[in-house]
Amino acid sequence: MTTKILQILLDGCRPDALQQAKTPNLDQLWQTGAYSWTAKTVMPSWTLPCHNSMFRSVPPSKHGVGADNIFRESARAFPSLIDVAALGGKHTCMFYSWEQLRDLGNPGSLKVSYCRNADYGLDNDTDIAKLAATYLTTEKPDYCFLYMGDIDINGHMYGWMSPEQIASVEANDSAVGIVLDRLEAAGIRNQYTIHVQADHGGHKTDHGTDMPEDMTIPWILNGSPIKQGYQIQSPVSILDTAVTLAHLMGLDIPPLWEGKVVEDALV
Ligand SMILES: [Zn+2]
Repeated sequence: MTTKILQILLDGCRPDALQQAKTPNLDQLWQTGAYSWTAKTVMPSWTLPCHNSMFRSVPPSKHGVGADNIFRESARAFPSLIDVAALGGKHTCMFYSWEQLRDLGNPGSLKVSYCRNADYGLDNDTDIAKLAATYLTTEKPDYCFLYMGDIDINGHMYGWMSPEQIASVEANDSAVGIVLDRLEAAGIRNQYTIHVQADHGGHKTDHGTDMPEDMTIPWILNGSPIKQGYQIQSPVSILDTAVTLAHLMGLDIPPLWEGKVVEDALV
């Protein structure tokens, strides 16, 4: 069987931040899904290299997007999940608040791409999540990427695991709750398998190193055909995300991709 995918990214969200914050909506996803609190990102643990590894399933040494958070055209040699989905005839969309992510797919691979940068104002993540929810419930896309950046921003401003950052985890949880409620109300919640993860963690007011605090990320799958209330036992890498989501959408896996399907999460 194949399923539609809603992929949610919580920038800079450490697994222990997720566990410390009051997050009833995200809790429901992992408690009725499959999850790992020990998934690993790649070095350098910066947003753009990590996203390119998440979407292109190769390490930064291959795609070439490095610590300076600047996109390199060399990355396009490795098709992204968005490109693979578009090639497979899927209706794809992306809602995000950091414009550097615009190159995660090739021009033409996204039917809808909505970006409003975080400096636009308060509650930007929540507003973007609401826009994504409206699009999901009216257009019912096959694949939707929802990126939220406030947790990372608060980490840099106030510190990782600070009360301010924990509050932003809770705000993102409420935004996820809005999306889930809207899917439920539209009667299409069960059409979507939902994936939640971070791109990297952080320590003090930064990240980018190979410290466990920076490298360890939460990784959650919820829906069909996913195990329920199951802690994934096998090691999970950020390179596995694109492969697993493409597999769930019934897409061909590009031979260049180096990740694996996280079979342990599947029924
Ligand atoms: Zn950051």
